[in-house]
Amino acid sequence: MTKRANNTPASTSSNQAQIDEKIIHLYESRKKIYPREVKGIFAKIRDNGLVVLLAIYFLLPWLNWDNRQAILFDMPNRRFYIFDIVIWPQDLIILTLFLFIMAMTLFFLTALVGRVWCGYACPQTIWTEAFIWLERFAEGSRIQQIKLDKQPWNAQKIRKKVTKHALWIILALWTGLTFVGYFTAIRALIPDFFTLSASFAATFWALFYAGATYLNAGWLREQFCKTMCPYARFQGAMYDENTLLIAYDKQRGEPRRKAKRGENQDGHCIDCNLCVQVCPVGIDIRDGNQSECINCSLCIDACNDVMDQIEAPRGLIRYASDNEMMGKKTRYIRPKTIGYGVILAVGISVLIYQVITISAIELNIKRDRNILARYAPNNQIENVYSINLLNKTLDDANYEISAAGIDGLTVQGAQTGFSVKSGEVFDTTIRILADKDLLTNYNTPIELIVKNTTTGEVHRSQTRFLNVTRD
Ligand code: SF4
Ligand code: SF4
Repeated sequence: MTKRANNTPASTSSNQAQIDEKIIHLYESRKKIYPREVKGIFAKIRDNGLVVLLAIYFLLPWLNWDNRQAILFDMPNRRFYIFDIVIWPQDLIILTLFLFIMAMTLFFLTALVGRVWCGYACPQTIWTEAFIWLERFAEGSRIQQIKLDKQPWNAQKIRKKVTKHALWIILALWTGLTFVGYFTAIRALIPDFFTLSASFAATFWALFYAGATYLNAGWLREQFCKTMCPYARFQGAMYDENTLLIAYDKQRGEPRRKAKRGENQDGHCIDCNLCVQVCPVGIDIRDGNQSECINCSLCIDACNDVMDQIEAPRGLIRYASDNEMMGKKTRYIRPKTIGYGVILAVGISVLIYQVITISAIELNIKRDRNILARYAPNNQIENVYSINLLNKTLDDANYEISAAGIDGLTVQGAQTGFSVKSGEVFDTTIRILADKDLLTNYNTPIELIVKNTTTGEVHRSQTRFLNVTRD
C-alpha cells in the first residue's frame, strides 16, 4: 500500500503551484543492511566488551569448582550451583531477587544513559556482531558484500556464501551446546552429542538454541530489535530530557554542506552518510532520536573521524541529553535516578543478606494440634512436635536436636541423632518435656537447636512451649 504526500511548497518561478509528490511506502519489505566497519574509541570499547562477554559465556561452564561444574543449573536434581553457593528450590527468593536486581539495573541505566544495554551487552547485539565479523571474514568489506550479492551466482560466490553459512552454523551450534551446558554437565554433553548418545531433551534444546541463534543473529538481526524486543517498546517511558542519548547536534550540523576543509560557512555536517553506513539498524540519526537506535555509538566514531578530516571539532554526533541540546544543564541526579538507585541498593543489600544467611538445612516445625500439652510423669509437661528437615548440603549428614529457653528442657525422639542423605527430607516426631514448676507462663517461647554433628554447624529455630492450663 502506498500513499502520495505533498512535501514542498509551490515553485516561486511559476504562478501555477507545482506540487512535488513523493511516494511513501507504508508497507515495505526489509532492505538488507550492510554495516560498514568503523574504527574509534566506542568501537574499540564495544568490540573488547563483546569479546569478553562471549568468552565468559563460552568458557564459564567449563570452569570447575570443588570437583564439580562451577555454574550448573541442575534441573533434574532441582538445585543450582553458583561456585560455593548451592541454591535449592526453597531458596527461590535468591533467584527472584537476582532477576529483580537485573531489571532494576536496566531501568536505572536506561534512565541515566539510554539503551547502553542494547548497544553493548544484549545477547542479540553480541551475537549479531559476532555473525557480522564472520560475514566480513567470508565475504569481505561492506562494498565487497554489496557487489557479491548483486553479481550472478558463480563458483566464487557459492564458495563465499557456503563459507559464511558454515561459520555461522558452527558458532550457532557452539552457542546452543554451551547454553545446554549450563543445565547439564558440559564435559559429558559434548562427547555425548557428537556420538549421538546425548538425551533427547539435551539434543533437542541444543539444536533449538542453535537454530534460534542462526536465525536471529544471521537473518533477523535488527528486525528482532525493531519488531520483537519488548524492551525496545517501553524504554521510551524511562527517558526524560536529562537522559543521555546518541544525538546529532542540529544547531552545529545544519545546513549541511559539501565537504571542504576549513570552510566555515554552513553547518559541520558534510552529508557524507558515513553515520548511516555504519549503523547496524540502518537509521539516520540526523532525523532525531528513534526507537530503533540501540545506542551502539558507532555513528559517533564515524562522524568524529569525519570531523577530524575536515578539521572541525569532534562531537557533532555525541552522547547528549535533550537539555544539553537546548543549551541547558544535564541533571544526572534527579528523582527518577534516585528512586531507581535506592530500590537497587535495597535489592542488592537484601540479596547479599539472603546469600550470607543461606541455611544448610530447611527446617519445618509443626506443633501437634490435637494435644497441645499434656501431663507426663515426674511433674512434667509434654509438648509434641512434627519435624521436617531437608539436608541442603552436598553430603550426607548426621543431626541431633536439642531445646533451650526453659531450664531443664529435655527432648525425646530424635535427639540421639539421625542421618539424612544429601537433598533428602527427614520426617520425625519429637516430644519436649519441661518441669511444670518452672513454667511461669501458659505460652513460653523456646528454641529448637539442630546440630549437624558431621560439620558442627548449628541451626536455631523459634517455636513455643505450652502449659496445660492458662493459670
Ligand atoms: S558522519 Fe557526520 S558529517 Fe557525515 S553525514 Fe553523518 S553527521 Fe554528517
Ligand atoms: S544511530 Fe548510531 S547509535 Fe543508534 S544504532 Fe545507529 S549507529 Fe548505533
